[in-house]
Amino acid sequence: MINFKQRVYDELNLKKQADELGVKVWQSPSFLFIVMGIIIIGAMTAVYVVSINYDSPEIVVISEALVVILLFTIGSFIIRTVEEVAKANKMKTEFVSIASHQLKTPISEMKWQIELLLIKFSTGLSVKQTEIINEIAHSSEKMGRLVNDLLDVARIDQGQLALAKEEINFCDLVNDTVQSQKIFAKARSIDLVTSCNVDKLMVLVDKRRLSVVLDNLISNAIKYIDGNGKVEVVVENDDGFAQVCVRDDGVGIPKNEQDNIAKKFFRSNNSIKNRTDGTGLGLYIAKNIVEQSGGKLWFKSIENVGSEFYFSIPLVDNEKKNLNFK
Ligand code: ADP
Repeated sequence: MINFKQRVYDELNLKKQADELGVKVWQSPSFLFIVMGIIIIGAMTAVYVVSINYDSPEIVVISEALVVILLFTIGSFIIRTVEEVAKANKMKTEFVSIASHQLKTPISEMKWQIELLLIKFSTGLSVKQTEIINEIAHSSEKMGRLVNDLLDVARIDQGQLALAKEEINFCDLVNDTVQSQKIFAKARSIDLVTSCNVDKLMVLVDKRRLSVVLDNLISNAIKYIDGNGKVEVVVENDDGFAQVCVRDDGVGIPKNEQDNIAKKFFRSNNSIKNRTDGTGLGLYIAKNIVEQSGGKLWFKSIENVGSEFYFSIPLVDNEKKNLNFK
């Protein structure tokens, strides 16, 4: 109900829409559509009045022509606004892509030099100096991850996220990813358990990309638990799909913010308050990878109770059946 009211309010909030598109209120498509609607109603009434009061067909034709000219003018405004927004969006994506590419090399160099410093000269460093260098290493690691995420977002937005395909057992991928996350869970006193009730679930996917998706869901589940807790990763065969559920008993997501999850850069208020460490890009990328692999990603969450993030990927047999069907 709150969502519906909010949606109606958002639809009517022309200022907000114009701000989101980066145009003036009178240039926003919704405003121009309303104006166009009013003009159509007014024009129809005027043409009706003219046609019953004047016998001359010329006057009716001229008044109709004027209305058409007016509508064309407003239509061209709408098209120009949409074009401007699309151009700005394209420029932004290209800028993000170029900037990320340019940043990649210096960040890698920085990481490499820090590693060298720690390996070669560690004996000559004081505890404080080592601590500071480790901090720099941690920050450059974070910067590297952010740049990679931005590059992926730019690729998605340009429709250029290329996925390699290989046939793998989904359960193995889940077990390996869970294993690699155990150390982080342990460091935060979180119990990370997994259950795969089937031996083999063969899927045709980009293994590296899909493990990024799983990594993101599991690390989020660990990250968004306050204090101790439990994360469960459950794999199932769901009617021709390999399905995984990552369940946690963490902070959850407020109901009124759930519609925005997996949108670019979105972070819920309760997560921003407690954890500054995040970009709001992980789920956006994950959702796109899953959808491009023929699957879907969704979630259920209750604030202060916990969250369940799911995704499913068609099994190889299922894909073959679909191909035969076509
Ligand atoms: P990040 O974690 O870097 O902020 P994500 O795209 O992975 O970015 O997640 C977006 C937002 O979704 C998070 O900031 C958080 O508000 C919410 N979120 C994701 N997973 C969970 C979870 N398991 N529990 C609670 N909130 C979550």
